[in-house]
Amino acid sequence: MGFCFSQTLIRWSKQHGRHGLPWQGQKDPYAIWVSEIMLQQTQVSTVMERYPQFMRQFPTVKALASADLDAVMALWSGLGYYSRARNLHRCAQQIMAEYAGQFPSSVQELVKLPGIGRSTAGAIAAFAFEERAPSLDANVKRVISRFFGITSDPQSHKTTQLLWEHATAILPKSKSQMPVYTQALMDFGATWCASKAAKCQSQDQSCPMMSECKAYEIGHVEHIPAKKKKKESPAFTTHIFLIRYQDEILLERRPPKAIWGGLYSLIETPWQPAAKKLDHSKSIDVIDLLNQTEFVSQLSKKDLAAITSIEKRGVIEHIFSHRRLQIQPWVIDLKQKWLCTSYAIDWIRMSRLGEYGLPQPIRVFLESNSR
Ligand code: SF4
Repeated sequence: MGFCFSQTLIRWSKQHGRHGLPWQGQKDPYAIWVSEIMLQQTQVSTVMERYPQFMRQFPTVKALASADLDAVMALWSGLGYYSRARNLHRCAQQIMAEYAGQFPSSVQELVKLPGIGRSTAGAIAAFAFEERAPSLDANVKRVISRFFGITSDPQSHKTTQLLWEHATAILPKSKSQMPVYTQALMDFGATWCASKAAKCQSQDQSCPMMSECKAYEIGHVEHIPAKKKKKESPAFTTHIFLIRYQDEILLERRPPKAIWGGLYSLIETPWQPAAKKLDHSKSIDVIDLLNQTEFVSQLSKKDLAAITSIEKRGVIEHIFSHRRLQIQPWVIDLKQKWLCTSYAIDWIRMSRLGEYGLPQPIRVFLESNSR
């Protein structure tokens, strides 16, 4: 009998696959969907901690759809890529409204939902409905690229198409094997055919794919997939203001389309491209900075008289996937509250901060500056 990719992989997974992760063995498409979305840009160890919390709070698509977006964002706090949380919420509402709370069962229908791409749709369809549909997460892409010796630019449309074709061709014939196969392929890519230390590059020569693997045969395992060309990500600077009155602080809800969209944050000056790092030598007019924020168009004499102290804190460096941000925080104490004229800005008690979705660096800053 010749070599069969899917059966070799399934045999491998019995002994070496990852077992017992909280989202494994699920048939509920809702539970699978949440785990797939959370795993997209978050490490498995973090998802293991956060996924059960999310499922406890929103155990069904109905519970998620009827939740307040703020509660969803608060629970997503720290996981980054917040459009995932907004899309989860929107998608749950769409499933309730258009599918009577029942997840559609085919890739074709699933990809029409917000935040569900072909790969996530494939995983949901394979795990929950045993559809013969491939899923291509980054680990799976690597395995297929190496196994078939694909050396072309991994970003190109042509390469992506080729990967989907190969991924479809090697699926098991039997639908009932789809859940175990899909999991096995993800596990194999995450553990044995790993990005930096592929099994075949060590002393251990037990990879069951070795006899057929093109990358191994041509000695290019470490160069496949081809590395993305790294561009220097642009840097920006901003000033943020922790404005405090007794145990209350001013928070602003960010617009949905912005970075950290829909989260609450501190009032900030518009982000400026940073030609160089923030200049600490120059004396800074904080009132002038405050007047650059959207919250304050012009501070009145009464507002200024309410300020009891202004203190500068250490610069926070934050790295996004495509940009870097230097944040200069200021702590301003008031003896009288400033009035909020915008609906997006409000005074919040520090003790209730846990109820709000905040960007991780802002949460850390607030926790270290609480009184
Ligand atoms: S032989 Fe090496 S590169 Fe090929 S599948 Fe196995 S671990 Fe991956």
